[in-house]
Amino acid sequence: MEKHDVLILGGGPAAITMVKNIKGKRDIAVIRPEDHSMIYCAMPYVIEGLLPYEKTLKTDDLVTDTGAELIRDTAESVDFEKKIVKTADGSEYGYNELVIATGANPILPPISGADLEQVSTFKTEEDLKMILDLVDSGIESAAVVGAGAIGIELAQALNEKNIETNLIDMMPTILPNMLDKEMVEKPQKALEDLGINLYLGNKVVELKGDKKVEAAVLGDGQTVKVDLVIFSVGMKANVEFLKDTELNIGRDGIIINDYLETSIKDVYALGDCVQFESAITDEVVPGKLATNAVPMGRIMAANLLGDSRSYKGFYNGTATKVGDYFVGNSGLTEKMAENDYDTVTGYADFTTAFPIMPFAEKVKLKLVVDRESKNVLGGQVVSGKPVTDKIDQITMAVQYGVEVDQLIEFSYSSQPYQSFYPAHNLLVKAAENILDKI
Ligand SMILES: Cc1cc2nc3c(=O)[nH]c(=O)nc-3n(C[C@H](O)[C@H](O)[C@H](O)COP(=O)(O)OP(=O)(O)OC[C@H]3O[C@@H](n4cnc5c(N)ncnc54)[C@H](O)[C@@H]3O)c2cc1C
Repeated sequence: MEKHDVLILGGGPAAITMVKNIKGKRDIAVIRPEDHSMIYCAMPYVIEGLLPYEKTLKTDDLVTDTGAELIRDTAESVDFEKKIVKTADGSEYGYNELVIATGANPILPPISGADLEQVSTFKTEEDLKMILDLVDSGIESAAVVGAGAIGIELAQALNEKNIETNLIDMMPTILPNMLDKEMVEKPQKALEDLGINLYLGNKVVELKGDKKVEAAVLGDGQTVKVDLVIFSVGMKANVEFLKDTELNIGRDGIIINDYLETSIKDVYALGDCVQFESAITDEVVPGKLATNAVPMGRIMAANLLGDSRSYKGFYNGTATKVGDYFVGNSGLTEKMAENDYDTVTGYADFTTAFPIMPFAEKVKLKLVVDRESKNVLGGQVVSGKPVTDKIDQITMAVQYGVEVDQLIEFSYSSQPYQSFYPAHNLLVKAAENILDKI
């Protein structure tokens, strides 16, 4: 039986980050079934035609150049007592330490017609190829179910390809986990202006067709003609093969502590396959992100080399692009916070450059603060220019327990191309707005 010092199950961003940071200092094998790990975040832009699909394929040498062995197989069971992993091709691998990084798979709801052809989820190379082939074949209409970031990016890509695109979500607005109602109005209108048909507050209850999908039936009885349906309604941790073991698994993935240790000695887990608990509320949160998986990979690598670093928790800073709007969120929206906190919100409306500059775009920031502690709980930005830097500033405030009266003292920079006049800063202004209300 082949035995390795460290055995990693899964070959996604979490695993790749780990082996790159361990740099051959331990004997490692990575077990992964698929031909290519992917740059998932870029997949919608391949459909849109911005990138050739080959650019999203990660090469094996990301793993093998570190000295790690890459085994193309699927782990089917783990004997935690004997420290042996059995795989689909009948092989067995021993380990001293096991790292589970098997990620999450998109959910395909069990509705009637979900097994028809041209109904898919969106994650694998096969999903991407299938959609690209259908787009090239000249399909006329599609439905994307789920108006989160991935669904929105996908809907815009299909629409860009002159496919009649329908975006369906059971929530009353798009991006319900990212933007509060008043912040989402303009981006949502922008999506409609692109020609995308929005069916919000509505559910797909059935798919109809002979062999291929032909129509989506909605909860309110409407029928939407479709040649393709893609579900983007959330992710489920890939832990089925471990469910009958003694490993502690929660409703949303493997339970770990801050050191990425599981309930079993010498077994660790990280990335999308673990249960994310909000660093703010301790509640289980959805939104599996590479921006959690990759930092966890760095911490795991350090710890496997003898360090004792902890993961500081899930804040889930996210961003996307809707029409000409760049939007993002970190921490809690006002809606998410309403059950646990008495919140106060503040706003700032400026421009992305000095307003006298010809290319200045509007930018709006909303801050959500806990009235009692005055801690920042979260914030949202809607802008004509990229927002991730601003989202990361908000995360920093939330993560390090910044109080709103500290935020008004925030020291900032200003330059005609890159910010509003020195007179104002978005975060400071929103914080002042909150203090006025308190
Ligand atoms: C379309 C799309 C767009 C996205 N956009 C963004 C974005 O803009 N920003 C962001 O932060 N995140 C984004 N994400 C999320 C991000 O891709 C994931 O959070 C990230 O890939 C998680 O990394 P991971 O290594 O934990 O899991 P995964 O990437 O899921 O990798 C898991 C690996 O485990 C393997 N595996 C599964 N089961 C087994 C088994 N039994 N045995 C062996 N191997 C197994 C899989 O085949 C895979 O290699 C996006 C995801 C998608 C699908």
